[in-house]
Formats: sequence, C-alpha cells, structure tokens
Amino acid sequence: MEKKLIYLDNAATTRTAPEVVEEMLPYFTERFGNPSSIYGFAAANKEEITKRREIIAGVLGAKTDEIYFTAGGSESDNWALKATAEAYGKNGGHIITSKIEHHAILHTCEYLEKVRGYEVTYLDVDENGNVSPEDVEAAIRPDTVLISIMFANNEIGTIQPIKEIGAIAKKHNILFHTDAVQAFGQVPINVDEMGIDMLSASGHKLNGPKGIGFLYIRKGVKIRSFVHGGAQERKRRAGTENVPGIIGLGKAAELAAASMEDRMKRESELRDYMIQRISAEIPYCRLNGDPVKRLPNNVNFSFQFVEGESLLIMLDMKGICASSGSACTSGSLDPSHVLLAIGLPHEIAHGSLRMTLGADTTKEDVDYVVDCLKDIVQNLRNMSPLYEDFVKKQAKEK
Ligand SMILES: *Cc1c(COP(=O)(O)O)cnc(C)c1O
Repeated sequence: MEKKLIYLDNAATTRTAPEVVEEMLPYFTERFGNPSSIYGFAAANKEEITKRREIIAGVLGAKTDEIYFTAGGSESDNWALKATAEAYGKNGGHIITSKIEHHAILHTCEYLEKVRGYEVTYLDVDENGNVSPEDVEAAIRPDTVLISIMFANNEIGTIQPIKEIGAIAKKHNILFHTDAVQAFGQVPINVDEMGIDMLSASGHKLNGPKGIGFLYIRKGVKIRSFVHGGAQERKRRAGTENVPGIIGLGKAAELAAASMEDRMKRESELRDYMIQRISAEIPYCRLNGDPVKRLPNNVNFSFQFVEGESLLIMLDMKGICASSGSACTSGSLDPSHVLLAIGLPHEIAHGSLRMTLGADTTKEDVDYVVDCLKDIVQNLRNMSPLYEDFVKKQAKEK
C-alpha cells in the first residue's frame, strides 16, 4: 500500500497538473520541431508559443510581446536586475530592494555591488514583513535606477503594497520590478494598474513544469539581452525555445486564472482554519507574516523550545512534507534572513515551520497535520532542557 503523503510545501514547488502534462506530451514526441525552422511542421510551434504568450499576457493585463520566456524565476530576477542596471546606470547607480527578497534578488544585488560598483539599499520590514511605501520613497536618490520589491514573500506569505510602490516609482520616473514568483496565478495582478515595469514568474510554483518561467518587460523599457545568440524572444533571450515548457506554463497560467477566485477562497479558509487551530491548541507559538495581507496558502509559525529540523523529521515520519526557516535546511548556520528581518531572535527563528497548502489540500489533511503537530511539539518540548527550566520557573512564580 502506498504511504500516506500530505504535501504542504507548495511554496517550494508544486505538482504539475495532469492537464498540463497532457498538453506538453506531444511537444516531446511528434511535435518536436524547432520553432525557428521554415517548414510548416516546425514553424507551427512558433504559433503555439505565441498563443501561450497571449494567455500569460492576458492574466497580467499585459501585451503579448511584453512576455519573455526564461528558464524560471531565478533567471528572470537575474535578468531584470543585471540588464537594467547595465542599461540605465552604466557607471554604477543605486538600487532599492528589501531585506526579505528571495536569494535570486539578494545575491544578484550583492554581485552588482561587489563587481559592478552599484549601491543597494536593503529596506527594513515591519514585524509582519511589510515594506513601507514611505520608506521606499525616502530611499530614492538622484541616481536610483531601479526599485525591486517582491509581490509576496515565499516564507511568510506577506503580500506587499505593490500598487503604492508602483505609483511612487512612476512619480519619480524610476523602473519598478517585482518578483511575483509566489503571486502569479495565486492572486490577481494587473501590471498597468499596479505600475509594474518588470515582473518575474516561474512555472513550477503554479502547477506548471520546472525550468520555465518568464519576465514581463513593459514596452519601452531599455533592457539588454540576457543571453546573446539567436533571434529568439526578440533577440533578448537567445536559445532554442523550451517548447514543452512554454506549452505547460501557458496551460498552468490558464488553469490558475480560471480557478483563481475559487481557489483563493477555498485555500484562505483552510489557511485561517489551520492558523486558528494551531494558535488555540499549541501554546507558545507565534504566527509569522501578516495575518491579513497574506498569500491564501501560507501558514508559518514559530514554536518556542523546539528546533525546526526536528519538527520536519518528525512530520516526515507521519508522511507530512513541510519546510523550515531554520539553519540546516538553508545550508548555513544562520536562520532565514526573512525571519531575522521581521525581528525574531535566533532561537525563535530556529523553531519555525512553513506549511503551504495546495489545490488538493483538504480539511481532513489539515486536521491530521495539526493533530500530529500538537503531539510532536509536545514530545519535543518534553525532551528540551530549556522547556523544563521554563516550566519550573513558571511553577515557582505561581
Ligand atoms: C521559487 C522562487 C524563485 C526562484 O524560482 P525558480 O523558478 O525556482 O528559479 C524566486 N523568487 C521567489 C519568491 C520564489 O519563491
């Protein structure tokens, strides 16, 4: 019998939807042609790609030729930052971002600082992970070339005031990029209404395939080619197109847009139910991220007196897949930069757990997970000398 598996790590990656796989399959087999070839059999793929570009542009309120396919979110983020920095600030310049961005943004900024002579302002966030539009405006300098603020955070789920930041960028005539990898297909986005000039997204975060994503680039934005070579993607990103990937991403975007309203409602209800049960039934915990301005599928808690890794291992034994912002999972000694940026002390950050719901998560799953979690947290605390001291101290005070 197959072991029960409850997958609550949809911010890390998602299951490719069966409809997506089905639509991709012919492009590996009978429709394998190179879209740049002249003969009809292959050239037909070019039209198929255009159709998928149209679908994605439609979801964002963008124009078809403003969508550039890439190999995923990290590439889109790299491209947006490096190529704008080059085009708009040849002799260096200033970039504004936040302390809670994905590493694809933060490490690219570090590179631009160290190698290209850029200066970067990393804005603080409040205790719920909100970037303040006033802080963005106050950080603007005469040489600021780019503002890059993520749409929604991948760890704590906080959704940023993108429209307000977009308006500020526009007022000061500065380019505005947003890493929307966690938001695209999950919440409504309109690039015109929100004043977005560039936007990154990735297929595998919205039930599409891995290794495909796109960068939206508003018409008129001067941005250099990221990959030099052939004429693909209007010469801005060369290389034979990942045709099956593009087909899959198009289908995933179409499905996500069609089901967005229902899914947001269903997932946010489940999310709030889970948050409410954990808050009520497990003592000494803290919800991380904004309680309201939050991705519909994100639940992130810190539990005092436990280690995130231990939680993950014990949950795994119950067939539950989740994630932690503690040290080992990130491969470094420090806990997640996001949890530190919202002001958590190291020991609290180490006891954090992220559970991200998906389209197939049920209330029964949530109940099972919370029941397991209650036992696991209690068992781990019973083994913790810190917890023992804490309990003794409390008894004395009473
Ligand atoms: C996953 C993720 C990325 C990276 O996307 P890939 O397609 O895996 O390269 C970038 N930013 C955010 C916010 C993410 O969640």
